[in-house]
Amino acid sequence: MRALWILGAVTLTLTTAVLVTGSSEPSPRGLPSRALGTAGGQLVVPASTLQQKAHVVLVTLDGARWQDVLAQPGALSSSPAMPKLLELVARNGVALRATTSSKVPLSLPGYQALAAGRMTSCEDNDCARLEGETVAEGLARGLGLPMEQVAVFASWARLSFAAAGAEGAVTLDAPPRGLPGPGGPPWEDARWDVETTARALSHLTTHRPRFLQLALLDTDEWAHQRDAQRTVQALRAADDAIAALLEVVRTWPEDERRLTTLLVTTDHGRGPGSLWHAHGAFDASRNIFLLAAGDLVRGGDELATQADVRPTIERLFGLCPRGSGGRAVTAIVGDLPCGVAGAATP
Ligand SMILES: [Zn+2]
Repeated sequence: MRALWILGAVTLTLTTAVLVTGSSEPSPRGLPSRALGTAGGQLVVPASTLQQKAHVVLVTLDGARWQDVLAQPGALSSSPAMPKLLELVARNGVALRATTSSKVPLSLPGYQALAAGRMTSCEDNDCARLEGETVAEGLARGLGLPMEQVAVFASWARLSFAAAGAEGAVTLDAPPRGLPGPGGPPWEDARWDVETTARALSHLTTHRPRFLQLALLDTDEWAHQRDAQRTVQALRAADDAIAALLEVVRTWPEDERRLTTLLVTTDHGRGPGSLWHAHGAFDASRNIFLLAAGDLVRGGDELATQADVRPTIERLFGLCPRGSGGRAVTAIVGDLPCGVAGAATP
């Protein structure tokens, strides 16, 4: 593999694009469009190299608020809850405002919109399994990968209804449905994020998967319990989890490490102001974030949607997105080429 690294200046900004807002939520239009830093530049490589070498680590933080993740006015804590992630993004990535693409801003509808790259018929957390190929399954087929190379680790049992439409194509590691066992969290269909993180880290270390999704939950559950302190603690733990994942990536061969992209987003936002603990019934809970970091990230200022995540991931692997409602986010993928896997591409 002989790749040509074309470097260009990249500037990170927080987008100030117009968003759907709740009536009493501080207007995101007031978000300062301040540059957080300058990334090194976007690597431009042939699609065939991306198809053979690229990796994506996707972390979803259930119901995390953009104010808390991006340390903006209205955040639950006075100091940044995710300082390591913000520092990384400032140095080598983008922090974009985004909106949900689900019918309603609830968990399973959000995860399905993300995995399908479009709005699905799912309207609540009891809807049916996603029909058709999910983003993970599409990668496994498109890149011809064995199941350990495409892996989803989730703290929430029902995320499996968005992660895989069929059995056996990808690795799916989620707790069983039902009440938690001894030592588990005080909510059903779940396990603690710390356990999910440990399992994901082990898989990342052992198998060096091309795609890994770590789907965390504690943030949403503590918020529903109106426990601001534990919500912030969950975000800090997620910040540490992401740092630990990237520590593993740093041990990889240089070409694969440089072609690895971290994406961080959520299934939905939360209510405005004092209704921060709830979500679903408020337009404000459609406001979310999409963060990306890595040498492939172009940089720029753009409003993204949840449906854009799937085609963005596909482009990061040199695959041409097909048929979903979203589009690859230019601020992330820039001019990355795409083509048919296995074929000679420029
Ligand atoms: Zn959720």
